Parts: sequence; C-alpha cells; structure tokens
Amino acid sequence: MKFPDLASISFENRRVLIRVDFNVPLKNGRVVDDSRIRAALPTLKFVASRGGKLVLMSHLGRPKGKPDPTQSLAPVAEHLQGLWHHKVHFIDDCIGLKVVEATQRLESGEILVLENLRFHQGETEDSQQFAVELAKNGDVYVNDAFGAAHRAHASVHAIAYVFDEKAIGLLMNREITNLSRLLHDPEHPFVTILGGAKVKDKLPVIRNLIGKVDTILLGGAMCYTFMRALDHDTGRSPVEMDQVAEVKAIMQEAKGKGVSIEFPEDHRVSQSLEDFSNMFDVITGKSFRNGFGVDIGRKTLARYTQKIKKARTVFWNGPMGIYEKDPCAKGTQGIAHAVADCSGFTGVGGGDSLAVLAGENLLDKVTHASTGGGASLEFIAGVELPGLTPFLGP
Ligand code: ADP
Ligand code: MG
Repeated sequence: MKFPDLASISFENRRVLIRVDFNVPLKNGRVVDDSRIRAALPTLKFVASRGGKLVLMSHLGRPKGKPDPTQSLAPVAEHLQGLWHHKVHFIDDCIGLKVVEATQRLESGEILVLENLRFHQGETEDSQQFAVELAKNGDVYVNDAFGAAHRAHASVHAIAYVFDEKAIGLLMNREITNLSRLLHDPEHPFVTILGGAKVKDKLPVIRNLIGKVDTILLGGAMCYTFMRALDHDTGRSPVEMDQVAEVKAIMQEAKGKGVSIEFPEDHRVSQSLEDFSNMFDVITGKSFRNGFGVDIGRKTLARYTQKIKKARTVFWNGPMGIYEKDPCAKGTQGIAHAVADCSGFTGVGGGDSLAVLAGENLLDKVTHASTGGGASLEFIAGVELPGLTPFLGP
C-alpha cells in the first residue's frame, strides 16, 4: 500500500485542513492526558515548517449531534498553545461563514482549532453535505487521525473525496507502516498475545492472523470462551456462549494451518468481583469452585514469557486479567515486561494494553505502541479502513 504523503503537497501560504485525533480525556475543563495531542505534533510541525496555515478538526467524546459544552475542544486548543510556537486560535463551530473567514485570517504557522465535529449530526452520518461545508475550511486536506480511521465519518471519509490535493499525515503513515509489518513478511517466530474483554471483537483478528503467525497465546476474559469450547470448567468466568461454535471452527482452522493456539495452564480465581482477598490458583481442567478467573497463573506467565522472549515478531492486544485491580494485575504486567524485553519487532494495540505499558513505564520499550485502539485491531483483522479508502484511488 502506498498513500500520498506530506512531501507530495505544497503547503506554502495555503490553508491545510488536518483531521487529527484530539479525543483526549478532560477533567474539570482541563486535558488530563495529552499523548494524542503530542502524537500529532510531527505533522503539525512539518506543515508549519513549509509555510502552511493549520486548520485542525477532531471529535471529542460522544456528543449526540448537538453542542455540549462539557465536550468542547476549547481546553484542547488552550493546551496546544502551550506546545506551539505560534498563535493557536479556537472557534466555537466547525462549519459556516464565520469559521471560513477565521481560516482566511490565519498567518503561516498559526493554528485554528475548530469546535468538536460531533456537535453536528452530519459527522457520524458521513454526510456529503456536511463534508462539503467542512472542506471550505481548507485548500488541501490531510488525514492524521489513525484513531478515527476505522469509522466512515464525514471528516475522515466523505470529505477526502472533495479534495484533489490530499495526503495522510506522519502519524497515520507510521501506524500503517508498522502495523503492515505484522501482516506482510513478519520475521518468525511470530507470537501474538490476545486477551481482553470480548471474544467477539477479537475473533476477526485471530482469523486473519492464522496463516501468518506461529503461535497465539490467549488470556483475559476471552480465553474462557475457548476453554468452554474444550469443555473445561470455567466457574462463573465470562463465557460468550453464542461464540462457542465459532471458536471451535477457528481452532480447527488453526490446527489445519499449523498455528498453535495456546491457553493458560493455570489461573488466578476469585470468589468475588468486589473483594479480591479470597483468591486461589486453579490448574486448567480442574474445578474453578464456582469462582471467577481474574488473571493468568504463575506457570502460564512463565511459559508465555519464554515464548515471547524468543519471538522475532510480537503483537499484543488485551490484558490477561482484570488488571485495574491490583491483585489481578500480575499476569498482564508480566506480559508487558516480556514484550518490552523481546528484541524482535513488537507492536501493541488497545487502550487498556497501552495503559498497562504506560503504568510500567515501558511505552518506549516496544517498537510500536499504536495510538488507535479499534483502528489497529481492524487493521490487523485485515479490514480496509474507511479513512484510508479515499486515498487508494478509484
Ligand atoms: P484493549 O483496550 O487493550 O483492547 P480490551 O478493551 O479488549 O483491551 O479489554 C480490557 C478489559 O478486559 C479490562 O477492562 C479488563 O478488566 C477486562 N478483563 C480482562 N480479563 C478479564 C477477566 N478475566 N474477567 C473480566 N474482565 C477481564
Ligand atoms: Mg479497551
């Protein structure tokens, strides 16, 4: 896949309309985690250094197609000013004459942050009309919002067809390049670790990876559906009964293609999901004593760690247990360290998995920490992202 990049466009004195992912957490009208804002800076600096005028658009939260002051991008613009060497302006809408006029007043290197795209219904509806209105805010279009690339929304999809001159940004480029390395020509052994909440979300990933990976290591809530498919006791652990047949089919397919799908051999089990003082170890195949599986056990972690360390390519998505609770976090933290210690190419996706890496101070110890949770999973599942389709040509 080759997409038009920033180098293919002349930015001098032009209004560059950039879709960024500024969907950051706010608390009391302040940005509490600015990693997504910082992730956009390389593209912003590139455009500014070539004389462009920057018009930034993003969604934040899930306002239902009408203004909601608690989900305004104003605090984001204020925060961005602290990171920017020129003036950062903010305007309280994203379409209309007033907005277009504000874009025309910009000087080279200055930024105008538009108000939350989702204050208009047209955004999530991928409305052509809304896209045309948005497009009046720029002379050229750049999409750098990898985190929003899996949604067919107006600012990432419909709008891209309005512009002749368009490119993907540096963050988007890095995401695609790195994630593509997992799918095309990975070095072997290629080990994937999958955990997290919903097995249904992860099955397309497993399906696409069969035939590419050597080993899939399972953990987290999702592994109990697999264990149930093998008729093991899982106590009160979450099992998605409607996925059991699908899981059986996938295991069969993996077997046929020589891919090893592996399960925890031991588990940390709790009698309660409120109080974790009563926990015990259970070997796979033995009784869960009606408890909840809340983490992988020590033996499993040791075995998984060995496999991960020997791998030349690793992809990890999803925690191995209820990592938010300290007594259930050991397995996930251990996996985070194993991935960080692997000297091969390591990619990690998913908001919760990244939170664990960040908590262990390991974010810069992996080759690629993807900024897009849903988008990275869909990419790995082999889905063509709607935010990239317009760049692929007719
Ligand atoms: P990511 O954001 O990395 O893609 P997910 O969103 O798929 O990960 O899953 C994270 C959630 O899965 C966490 O909230 C975690 O508590 C939950 N989870 C993991 N293991 C279990 C388990 N054994 N029982 C219940 N919930 C679990
Ligand atoms: Mg998550």
